[in-house]
Amino acid sequence: MLNLHSFAAGRWIAPDGAARAIHSAITSEQIAQAGSRLDTAAMLDFARNTGGPALRKLSFHDRARRLKALALHLKAHKNPLYELSYMTGATHADSQIDIDGGITTMLVFASKGRRELPDAQVYLDGDLEQLSRNGSFMGQHICTPLLGAAVHINAYNFPVWGMLEKLAPTLLAGVPAIIKPATSTAHLAEAAFRIMLESGIFPKGAMQFIAGGSGDLLARLDGQDVVAFTGSAETALKLRSAPNLLQNATRFTAEQDSLNASILGPDAKPHTPEFELFINEAYREITTKAGQKCTAIRRIIAPEALVEPVIVALSARLAGVKIGDPAARDTTMGALVSQSQRADVQARIKLISQEARRVYGEDKPPLSKGAFMTPQLFHCADPDMAKAVHEVEAFGPVSTIMPYRDLPHAAALANRGGGSLVASVITHDPEVASRLAMGIAAHHGRLYFNDRDSMGEATGHGAPLPHLVHGGPGRAGGGEEMGGIRGVMHYMQRTAVQGSPRLLSAIGQTWLPGAPVVKAATHPFRHHFEELQLGQTLTTKPRKITLEDIEHFAHFTGDTFYAHMDEEAAKANPFFPGRVAHGYLLLSFAAGLFVEPDPGPVLANTGLNALSFQKPVSPDDSLTAELTVKRKTKRTDEYGEVRWHVRLSNQEGETVATYALLTMVAYNPAKT
Ligand code: NAP
Repeated sequence: MLNLHSFAAGRWIAPDGAARAIHSAITSEQIAQAGSRLDTAAMLDFARNTGGPALRKLSFHDRARRLKALALHLKAHKNPLYELSYMTGATHADSQIDIDGGITTMLVFASKGRRELPDAQVYLDGDLEQLSRNGSFMGQHICTPLLGAAVHINAYNFPVWGMLEKLAPTLLAGVPAIIKPATSTAHLAEAAFRIMLESGIFPKGAMQFIAGGSGDLLARLDGQDVVAFTGSAETALKLRSAPNLLQNATRFTAEQDSLNASILGPDAKPHTPEFELFINEAYREITTKAGQKCTAIRRIIAPEALVEPVIVALSARLAGVKIGDPAARDTTMGALVSQSQRADVQARIKLISQEARRVYGEDKPPLSKGAFMTPQLFHCADPDMAKAVHEVEAFGPVSTIMPYRDLPHAAALANRGGGSLVASVITHDPEVASRLAMGIAAHHGRLYFNDRDSMGEATGHGAPLPHLVHGGPGRAGGGEEMGGIRGVMHYMQRTAVQGSPRLLSAIGQTWLPGAPVVKAATHPFRHHFEELQLGQTLTTKPRKITLEDIEHFAHFTGDTFYAHMDEEAAKANPFFPGRVAHGYLLLSFAAGLFVEPDPGPVLANTGLNALSFQKPVSPDDSLTAELTVKRKTKRTDEYGEVRWHVRLSNQEGETVATYALLTMVAYNPAKT
């Protein structure tokens, strides 16, 4: 029997008199115990005063690199996790979703962290806001890590994925985590946590773990802490209404249960690729994890005339399901997590069956031991009058099919869930897709459209992806997780900062227009990455642009647009005083003005962002370029990215164009 330990304030704590028993989903025998009295004040102190400061010293990129190392470390040590996963009733395929899916999620956050966040401690949210006439007083939104702890309370169904999808954005944000998994599958979560902790990749205090109950932890939280909860609506309501959480406005993200729907488009008749696809998706959602998925399809909404063909086709698929030992590779559906979970599902089925007729499945368990059950399909002929089919979540292999008359009716039925994590629409008709999107998007966190064009690569109705938001309004909890960098922001405070460009540049670790510049004696392109300073600038000599230049450029490139070639037509255009230079000519001449031709530390020009042409340039105007180091981002051990702010001006000093120029610049090999 496994004795599951908590990791609290730097020590492993064995189970004590407070321990609860954990049973195998397959044999129902006790396999572990978890639970101890914990010093929750010491845990919070360890997170807030040891873990938090150590994490905040690192930049987003440092943390992203560590996240990647952590995910790869887990990958290298994942095999024993599979044995533990089978004991939760999960098949091999289910376990892959949980274990490998969790690792991949962490890798995606690591990669996005390095690509989309700065190599700094502060994240700039949006553009600089000009608050004064001369630009000496500006506004900028910044995001910085919360100074408390993130308490993660997870559901039992995906003990590894559920832990990692919350942990990755939390650590990337620079906030320490206290993880409390559901007790019934805590043996798997504890094993995965132990692997991560023992890797020593993240600093002391960055993560702690609670096996069993969390005691009075939530009662000790304040406004700098966050609770990220996944589980039932009932538990979420109880926890989020704790007086201290309400009083301190402690952030509480809830990912709850939901009555997700899948709608079959009126065009998707039998023998179309979409009909087959619809049956495949529904089958997969009923059987994967034995239906214990927050995103599973609970309501199958089909055109009236297609209800019977769907029942026949789906029942035929379900008849082929192979229920049994989750470790056997030919098993297609494992067990529920426990006998008590099965009893809970059966009680909910009773409520559903008052409004719907069972068309597939039976009460008798398919195996005498463990928590197995057959898939159950119900048919609700009058979904308008029904209540339970839209409100009662049977968290098992259970789904109800119901008819719709027309698209507004289909949308109304989907929305009867009161807010869901996901809804899918299987259609090849763009009109159906667009009308249903407008009809149901406000009720759903994610909409999944699939048809013959995307079915080969689509990821599945039930699969939340780290790039996309996971969560839903209303009944689904009103929370959001993941969604790429959006998920990181749940652990950070957005603050509006006002001040002079000089002070805002220092705060944001980015040079801002209006802040002082540094003029170096040598051309900035002669400087290696580590030698360049923020604000280092180059102002070029002016270059006169002649009518011949414009004509030459027009014929050379083929861009003979009338605004460059025809004085009368150009004058008639509301934007131009007469013939003007091409915007691309300005960019090309600017490069010619600031470039340093000899081989040097600048390796490549990798992009040009945020280009805006602000004033036309006429023949005989002069062009000057001003290039300033805005931000530096380390990329590899050999080079880093330098983002330059470029301003092009005319002979009056008026800005004619601005843009960000991206270059890769080498380190000084003599110094590395
Ligand atoms: P649950 O019973 O609500 O428990 C969820 C978590 O809350 C568990 O870790 C549980 O710990 C903890 N908890 C319960 N009472 C607590 C308390 N007083 N203080 C602190 N923590 C407490 O849900 P579940 O049975 O684990 O999971 C199934 C439900 O989760 C389903 O309804 C499903 O739809 C939903 N779910 C939603 C999502 C989503 O992303 N939206 C994902 C998966 C599952 P113990 O286990 O120790 O009681």
